[in-house]
Amino acid sequence: MDHAHDHPKKYPRIARPVELLRPSYDVVVIGSGYGGGVAASRMARGRQSVCVLERGKERWPGEYPSNLKEAAPQIHVSGALSPNDTGRLRIPVEAGDPTGLYHLFLGEGQNAFVGNGLGGTSLLNANIFLRADPRTLSLKYWPEEIRDDPSKLEKYYERAESMLQPSPYPASFPALKKLDVLQKQAATLGVEDKFYRPPQTTWFHEDGPNSSGVQMKTTTLSGQDSTGVNDGSKITTLVTYLADAWNWGAEIFCECEARYVKKHPTQEGYLVFFAWHGAKRDLFGKENVYEHLMWVHARKMVFLGAGVLGSTEIVLRSKERGLRTSQFVGQDLSGNGDILAFGYNLDDEVNGIGKEHPDPARPIGPTITGVIDLRGEDTAKNPLDGFVIEEGAIASSLAHLFQPMLELSPGRVTRAPLSSIPFRTLRSITSKLFGPYAPGGSVEHTQTYLVMSHDSNQATMTLDPDSDDARIVWQGVGRAEHIAEISETLARLGGTLVQSPFFSLLGQAEITVHAIGGLNLGRATSHLGELLRGDDGAGVHEGLIVTDGAVVPAALGVNPFATITALAERSVEGVAAKLGIDIDYATKNAQLDLFGSPQFPVQPKDDVTEAALIRARKTGQVGIGFTEIMNGFVHVGGEIESFGVAASQARADLQDAQFFLSVNAFDEDALLGRSDHPAMLTGTFSSALPGSPHMVTKGKFGLFTVDERTPDTRNLTYEFDMVGVDGKMLHFSGYKVVNNAAAFSTRDIWEETSTLYVTISDGKLVAGKGTMKIKVSDFVHELATIATTGANVPLRITGFGRFGAFFARQLTRVFFAPFAPLTDKGPATRTLTFAARPVPNEVISVTASDGVVSNMQVWEPTKVIDGKVLNVLFVPGASVDERIFALPTIPLNAIEYFTRAGYRCYAVTTRVGLTPNAKLQGGWSIYDARLDVAAGLKEVVRRAGGEKAYVIAHCAGAVAFASGLLDGTIPARDWIRGITISQVFMHPILGTVNDIKANIPLPSAYTFLARSDWFDCVPQPGLVQHAFDSILKFYPVGGRKEICSSASCHRSELAFGRLWNHANLNAATHDHLDEYLGGVSMKSLRHLTLMGRKRITSRPDGTPLIIAPVKDESALEPEPVNPALENLRGIPILIISGSDNVVFAPEGTDMSYSLLRNTFGAEMYERVVFKGRGHLDSWMSSTCADDGDVYDTVLGHVDAICRHGKLGTGEGGVAAEKREVSCSRPVAIVTPPKRANGTTQ
Ligand SMILES: Cc1cc2nc3c(=O)[nH]c(=O)nc-3n(C[C@H](O)[C@H](O)[C@H](O)COP(=O)(O)OP(=O)(O)OC[C@H]3O[C@@H](n4cnc5c(N)ncnc54)[C@H](O)[C@@H]3O)c2cc1C
Repeated sequence: MDHAHDHPKKYPRIARPVELLRPSYDVVVIGSGYGGGVAASRMARGRQSVCVLERGKERWPGEYPSNLKEAAPQIHVSGALSPNDTGRLRIPVEAGDPTGLYHLFLGEGQNAFVGNGLGGTSLLNANIFLRADPRTLSLKYWPEEIRDDPSKLEKYYERAESMLQPSPYPASFPALKKLDVLQKQAATLGVEDKFYRPPQTTWFHEDGPNSSGVQMKTTTLSGQDSTGVNDGSKITTLVTYLADAWNWGAEIFCECEARYVKKHPTQEGYLVFFAWHGAKRDLFGKENVYEHLMWVHARKMVFLGAGVLGSTEIVLRSKERGLRTSQFVGQDLSGNGDILAFGYNLDDEVNGIGKEHPDPARPIGPTITGVIDLRGEDTAKNPLDGFVIEEGAIASSLAHLFQPMLELSPGRVTRAPLSSIPFRTLRSITSKLFGPYAPGGSVEHTQTYLVMSHDSNQATMTLDPDSDDARIVWQGVGRAEHIAEISETLARLGGTLVQSPFFSLLGQAEITVHAIGGLNLGRATSHLGELLRGDDGAGVHEGLIVTDGAVVPAALGVNPFATITALAERSVEGVAAKLGIDIDYATKNAQLDLFGSPQFPVQPKDDVTEAALIRARKTGQVGIGFTEIMNGFVHVGGEIESFGVAASQARADLQDAQFFLSVNAFDEDALLGRSDHPAMLTGTFSSALPGSPHMVTKGKFGLFTVDERTPDTRNLTYEFDMVGVDGKMLHFSGYKVVNNAAAFSTRDIWEETSTLYVTISDGKLVAGKGTMKIKVSDFVHELATIATTGANVPLRITGFGRFGAFFARQLTRVFFAPFAPLTDKGPATRTLTFAARPVPNEVISVTASDGVVSNMQVWEPTKVIDGKVLNVLFVPGASVDERIFALPTIPLNAIEYFTRAGYRCYAVTTRVGLTPNAKLQGGWSIYDARLDVAAGLKEVVRRAGGEKAYVIAHCAGAVAFASGLLDGTIPARDWIRGITISQVFMHPILGTVNDIKANIPLPSAYTFLARSDWFDCVPQPGLVQHAFDSILKFYPVGGRKEICSSASCHRSELAFGRLWNHANLNAATHDHLDEYLGGVSMKSLRHLTLMGRKRITSRPDGTPLIIAPVKDESALEPEPVNPALENLRGIPILIISGSDNVVFAPEGTDMSYSLLRNTFGAEMYERVVFKGRGHLDSWMSSTCADDGDVYDTVLGHVDAICRHGKLGTGEGGVAAEKREVSCSRPVAIVTPPKRANGTTQ
């Protein structure tokens, strides 16, 4: 059983994965028995796009259970146990897999047994194809269109025959004991002439294609029909109508249980709501599966072919949801007068127990092969007295239970003579000792009788108001007198007559395999099966048609499927004619390649998804899937920016949201191997948004995808378009953030992996925002839903292990992040490789007054504003170069920003930066570097014909620049229009950690240990360096969210303090740090430390560059200006600081700012603190270019001064007071690159 996965090509699969369901079809067919099969095939042949929804699974010969162990898990029991026939005691039962092959429905008074799978009950029935007799069809129950001339149904019986190809058990085939016994029994009853071999849908021919082009095999005569025949001889709807429908383009979906049908609110046709049982969704419980319904739109027609139990229940449920129907819906069901009984321990050998592989010399035969037909006028004056007796075979799965069941059943009747007792006892003992197949045993001498008669058609199906489940109350099998007569007849056939053992086991209720009615023609439906809108000529629901056994208005007194099929053919032809649909009955299929593609597709092939799925099925590659439920609150509307605020507003407004999504990765290699870790999402999203519930198909799930906007961060992403019941499309964009902020905390890891940030947009605007979470109980279920697919069991087990290991690795990586070895990613593993841009237009050499030559890059503006090109000189800090301003790993860097604004940009890397000069002469002090700034600026001014430039200096570059300004090396008033100082200026006050370090002679210790005056910020070979990296792992980094595994990041941090808030760097930049960082000489470090300790810019020997002038206390003049500052008079200065700067405390820029204001007045100076920014992320973050952020602020200052001749950016051009700009971002901004609406948080 279920060997389907053992070899990818062993069994065909004509059903498609639900992942490929389209939102709408011309026609939706529910169920795939005779009624559903006919509708699907004919509509596909009418060139309609057809979707078939079937509750059960697809199984082909070879996949049916052959013993009790295999069969037991396939039994689904529903309904209610009513141990007494008053119906007062009623115990609701719902057990087993709703997609299992066998469905036993417990009703009050009678039970019903049906098949459940692709092919419906045709997979399990006994194949007998017998027409209803015209006298029955003329009874008053039938609509006049049929009753007046039953012969009109002949055409449709013939059409059914041409598809199902029934034929009687051939005379040329081996004699069958049970058939011979039945013939003998007919003689016993004196009706030998009523005995015949009925036509049946068993393949008695040579192996070859059937009417639909499906390859069939000659029957092995196993008698296993009622549990499913594995020999390929059963002519089911699977191998006929459904295969034909598939070949003509119908799209079939299994494990989809239709629940109800509704008129489409805005468009033509109907919405069919269904529960998808696939992807182990049932593990989340019935309430979830039946509450989170998926749906599909039928533009023209819905055919209900879910069988008596299914279709009637669906219509009742639809009625409760507002569909108008006739009052007769759910009434007048019939068990077709079925009686199952046994002639136990006959004198004759019967050989009626099925065997998977029977001995060819002693075959059992198909389940039924003979009939005693007592429907004729000569035996039944009243057609209601007519009945048939057929012999049967018991499937092997019941073989071992059979004897005790028969011997313990109450109400047994024995007419055999007393003289036969010893023989009967011996046979009974033989069976007990040697098993059911023992020749000469009582079980081998047991004839099964299947009787079909006429009952009173008075069963009623209703819905339980609490559970929404169906219940049926039967009025018994029928007229008691009539039954007594039949039982009497059976008792005369010899042995011990035993009523069906189920009769006593199931609360004194018969079991019917032929339930019919509930949506009877002429009462609940039109004569064509269209659902009536009410009673008395209320008209029909156009396009809502019932085609299965539910329309049969009364017991037939014979096996029903021939009539069900004929009626379905008639209905479908009738409604097609109404819509002008021309059905092609004539074209014959060539032999079908069920592993290949349909010959006559209706719809264009799906996209790449389909190709990928089909490839996965064909190759048997390992795939993995699981199902997830998340609940939360999604605020309707786009006006709230923050996820948290939106969620709490939604909670207050009762705008809750859920999704029930199945994740399926058809290719585990891609899921685990590719950096985007792709998988597919299918299911529903329900919320307060209009159009809810929304259907999700082909959604994209990313498993621990690299978050390119934040270092060392991974995301679980959910991206999909979803269609609402109003036909409108919305886009769902969700992500979970998993990063080192959760280190050492399982609680935080759970928080991270279970919290989804959701943005919903309508293509242009944000339509909803909020957060969703997984409940712990749902997570437990989710784990159980993890399942692998693949060619064979070992592959699937390995796939499972690989997935588990991958998942565990990701979480362990986060948990133990602080212990992760420090490495820099090699080029191959970098997350992004940007084209090197922007390329400088020129690189010029500038020579400092002491002869040191530095490079200066020049970028020309991309546009000229007002015919004027103005010049800006950028000065980077220590250990970095011009690329901190021209960063290729962010979408828009500072140089691009300024050249686009019409400025020619220069950048000079000083001798303490990332330049070969840095190592010359054992390194340099920051003070020395002022000469390079001076040389660069001089050249900029010279090239501009003496026009002053604007200077933007960062960190050590700013300190060097300050030194040049204060000692007069740089003649500010001749060369400079305005200045932006970044992070530190005249007062290098160290951040706390740096301050502590400053009091330890670290540089000397390093020089001693490493025997070097140079410290590289990127990892270097050598033992000492390795040891360094290992120790650095434990170097304090700040909060957990600053934990990373980049060696360069840690090394630079040791030298200078943490250079950024990690949340502000994107992954690409962080991955490339080894390219952007150089090293630092101990001389530079000592000088920086010295200045830091003294909190003032100074020469390398410690002499401050600003010495407070001595004030003559007796003089009346104002306090004299510090001569060193005099050079800065009249130059507007903007000072920016990151609030979280731990390299230089923001307090230092405040001191410089205050000093300037106190000295020259407030007008010229402005200080802006960017909240949430650290040090270098003021220039290297991809969000620096946002409105109001660093670039915008600095350009505003540059423009005000250079273009508008103002003093600053404040009101009236006067510099503003100091202000704060909020730049804090969520821990990670992970809006995936491609957004439907381009919106980001
Ligand atoms: C053991 C046995 C032997 C039989 N022998 C004979 C015989 O010899 N001759 C004869 O004429 N008849 C026989 N029958 C009866 C005959 O097979 C049925 O009457 C016939 O199959 C009914 O056809 P149908 O189209 O009405 O429904 P079914 O064939 O029962 O098909 C209904 C389909 O709908 C699916 N379904 C149910 N609910 C839903 C839902 N909510 N959503 C989606 N899908 C759903 C089911 O899984 C099933 O596949 C036998 C039946 C049994 C059980």
